[in-house]
Amino acid sequence: MRVLVLSDIHSNIIALDTVLKDAGSYDQVWCLGDLVGYGPSPNECIDRVRGLPGLQCILGNHDAAALGKIDVRAFNYEAQVSLKWLTNVLEPGHKRFLERLDEKKTFGNITLAHGSPRNPVWEYIMDVRLAKQNFNAFETQICLVGHTHIPCLFTEDDTGEVKLCFHSPGETFKVEHRAIINPGSVGQPRDHDPRASYLIYDSDEDVWEFRRVAYDYMEVRERIIQAGLPYNHAIRLQDGL
Ligand code: ZN
Repeated sequence: MRVLVLSDIHSNIIALDTVLKDAGSYDQVWCLGDLVGYGPSPNECIDRVRGLPGLQCILGNHDAAALGKIDVRAFNYEAQVSLKWLTNVLEPGHKRFLERLDEKKTFGNITLAHGSPRNPVWEYIMDVRLAKQNFNAFETQICLVGHTHIPCLFTEDDTGEVKLCFHSPGETFKVEHRAIINPGSVGQPRDHDPRASYLIYDSDEDVWEFRRVAYDYMEVRERIIQAGLPYNHAIRLQDGL
């Protein structure tokens, strides 16, 4: 089985459609939350995700804020502006879809959490210290997280030592013991690379692969400006920030 792992689409339908085309064939899609927020196309993105095969999807902090589950004052000013815009345009059926999402999911040897397994909606796993603490918070071999918008892999060996490992896009790798893997962000990468980021898992071969694909961020930038959303959310896309 071939699995497409997506996170942090952030209402960027052009990036999402580019990824769906670039990924080739896949049997299942695991989506790690933040379908909405920042970008100009929330309804189109939810509509597209809902139609994906074998979908497993969890709730992100922006999704929770769109539902009123998190006070928007917990976000910076510009994120608040786009969240207020979002609550006005979100279609009721898509809102109900977000309402049904769990904060965390476990199946087989996989855990899905937007931020971290111990604090699924909010915590950012930014370094080895935080990754080490979180290896105790899930039972499965693999935990997939998003939220930082930075693709990365933390591994834990038999002795409990945790390392940050690097694999170039397009390079397949195996996980020997346990791992926390972040596919990066489809719709708003923040690792100084503007290309959409995602992950492929081949369960037959038991191999993983980070992928990057360029998309038309200038068109997204235009749509953000036209929607009256914060200018910074438009220009950050080209810098991958
Ligand atoms: Zn996000």
